[in-house]
Amino acid sequence: MEKLIITVAPTGSVPRKKDNPHLPVSPDEIAECALRCEEEGASILHIHVRDEEENPSDDPWRFAQVVDRLQGRTRLILQISTGGRAGADLSSRIQRLQVPAEMASLTTGSVNFPNMAYVNPPDLVEALAAEMKRHGIKPEMEIFDVSMIYNALRLQEAGLADPPLHFNFVLGLRGAIPATIEQLVHLRSCIPPRSTWTVSGIGASQLPMGVHAILMGGHVRVGLEDNIYYRKGELASNEELVRRMVKLSRELGREVATPEEARKILGLSSL
Ligand code: MG
Repeated sequence: MEKLIITVAPTGSVPRKKDNPHLPVSPDEIAECALRCEEEGASILHIHVRDEEENPSDDPWRFAQVVDRLQGRTRLILQISTGGRAGADLSSRIQRLQVPAEMASLTTGSVNFPNMAYVNPPDLVEALAAEMKRHGIKPEMEIFDVSMIYNALRLQEAGLADPPLHFNFVLGLRGAIPATIEQLVHLRSCIPPRSTWTVSGIGASQLPMGVHAILMGGHVRVGLEDNIYYRKGELASNEELVRRMVKLSRELGREVATPEEARKILGLSSL
């Protein structure tokens, strides 16, 4: 089985420091945390940024600050979130693709989150895909619903995304796909054979979904964006979540990819 790619999503848009003091929010904190996670075995960094009040920010300059602080210090694959939870409009979601990064997330449809509609109309999805293609950025297709897989395949047919596609199955978020092994098996059956996939289990499902993905030949995302606990009642740090996934993968007989090996698996051209 190919080596396991571990993505760390250290910040996200929802948790606050009062929920978990290990949450990195400033560009310095995010960069330092990313380096520690790389040391533990992460190979992709999924980046969200916050403003001075810890609110989700759509300011391209803040994304650039995180990337600047990592420049020359890491081999991590940087993945910019193009999510719109920060209330971002199209232009700000596109502008952050100017930041030099190898990957970006791309949600290919709309879904109801617990307290809001996450709206990604077709023209926005296509514009983001086209901009990623123009910059040579590989999209990670964020899959909150089965239909989003087919929307991603249509982008490929339209020449707006190049195969092999890379998917992230987001499971366990209220309003989206439940975190069960049956759902995971079905989602995997829907993607083309040469595609790669990872799983983001939300909350307590992060651990079991990660283990399923290790065994099924997928890849894994961990981090406080999706889950702030190590186990019930015990807060986690991003490093600990990465370390646990590395340990589990090795125990289960699967080695963990370095960033360079992850680039090969994902078909990214090396920097
Ligand atoms: Mg995200």
